[in-house]
Amino acid sequence: MILRDARLFDGREEVATDGAIRFDPESGRIEAVGDADPQGDEPVISLSDHTILPGLVDAHVHFSLSGQATVEDVVGQSDAELTLTEVKNARTTLESGVTSVRAMGARDLDVVLKGAIDRGEIPGPRTLANCRSITITGGHGHHLGREVDGPTECRKAVREQVKRGAGFIKFMATGGVTTPGTDPETLAFTHEELEALIDEAHRRGVHVATHAHGAEGIKAAAAAGVDTVEHGTFMDEEAIDLLVTNDVTLVPTLSAPYRIARNTEQATEESSRKTGGVYERHIDSFKRAYEAGVTIAGGTDVGTPFNYHGTNSTEISFMVEHGMAPEEAITAMTASAADVVGLDVGVLEPGKFADLLVVEGNPLEDVSLLREPTAVLKGGEGVSGRLPNDPNGH
Ligand SMILES: [Zn+2]
Repeated sequence: MILRDARLFDGREEVATDGAIRFDPESGRIEAVGDADPQGDEPVISLSDHTILPGLVDAHVHFSLSGQATVEDVVGQSDAELTLTEVKNARTTLESGVTSVRAMGARDLDVVLKGAIDRGEIPGPRTLANCRSITITGGHGHHLGREVDGPTECRKAVREQVKRGAGFIKFMATGGVTTPGTDPETLAFTHEELEALIDEAHRRGVHVATHAHGAEGIKAAAAAGVDTVEHGTFMDEEAIDLLVTNDVTLVPTLSAPYRIARNTEQATEESSRKTGGVYERHIDSFKRAYEAGVTIAGGTDVGTPFNYHGTNSTEISFMVEHGMAPEEAITAMTASAADVVGLDVGVLEPGKFADLLVVEGNPLEDVSLLREPTAVLKGGEGVSGRLPNDPNGH
């Protein structure tokens, strides 16, 4: 199958203004990018006035949450109820053009969801999932997480998560906005606990993400070898330098505080107070990290208050609004996020999955066009929208 006459952005740069891409519908993988001449009766679809780019990769989603004002509504739900929620949110995500995600787990549901998606039983993006995020007793996310105290329990918790199928480990280095009674600014774990968590995860062959708002938490996690920092809300120069030196990727999740800051009337008093003034500091941290050359991967924290599944691509608009060039912001949410997720996606090159976004016009000039893709393909198969001029209705 060949799609031609289109602008091609390969996940890193524009490679053609009038190019073609070939993929094998059987394997679902890309075979050629740039030029492709049809062989035999190979189907060809002309996509003039359209841009083809990799399906988006969201490095931070919560399928268990649906934008409720508080997590209280969610923690009382049974596994059966939460599973239905996750199935619905996974489908919405895929159809909006996000073809891969790193899912922040709730209980053990996300690894089960991933299995069903991989087997083709339910529609959803390719997923890297953890089980329960690891937190101190009473710490951020303890409702759906695994509480630990002391280095030995930290190691045990990591081994448990990997045993249950976690593809990465997430822990909460600081308190959070949505968990009452926790402080976003202070380091939650001891240094010994952090080192145990990260060392054990790397021994088990999985990467480690940390939720971290305050600079002390970011620095302690980065010094101990964490792979990604989520949010990075209050970074000082030392924290930014450490991210650069230790090659730690920042997933800024600009969507999350934006949505709370824009919905203060409905947000809980505590989450509004914690977000008030924080949004500006978060943006400032993001800008300084970007200017200092920190690797940035796009992630939305979708599912958190008023941050709805299917609106993921707005994160790209936020990154552009706060200083990134459109190509850089799209790269953050394709190639760079794919590096974090570790799947064969996020770039258009032979051998990668044909997870494609077809967008009318030029999103390199107007990234908001990504919100309304003409068609979304996963492994070369249409999952939403419709390719124009397609006789076979792919
Ligand atoms: Zn999150």
